[in-house]
Amino acid sequence: METKKQKFYCNTCIWETNHTILKHHKEYYEETIYFEDANVGEISDLLWSNDIYQIIKCNWCDQISFRETSINSECTNKRDIEENFYPKRNVNQHKHKKIKQYRKTLKIFI
Ligand SMILES: [Zn+2]
Repeated sequence: METKKQKFYCNTCIWETNHTILKHHKEYYEETIYFEDANVGEISDLLWSNDIYQIIKCNWCDQISFRETSINSECTNKRDIEENFYPKRNVNQHKHKKIKQYRKTLKIFI
């Protein structure tokens, strides 16, 4: 079970902010496949996929968006997890870095 709040990049805030998960839907599918191995005989393998659909809301600007993630038995590391946002995130790394520095500077003076 995922937490009700998570950090995601927000297009409006141009920053990674806390988001509230308004709606969470999970689709799980699994199938056992059987095949013959000349040496061992019949072998089975469990294939599965886990898709998550979320309606999320930025806690700073109240922007609502949609997030979907997909993971399956063929994934070997975190990078294999498919993650999509609607609308798409406009993460500009250079801009993101500058804003990060700016916010750090602001923290010093506040
Ligand atoms: Zn926002």
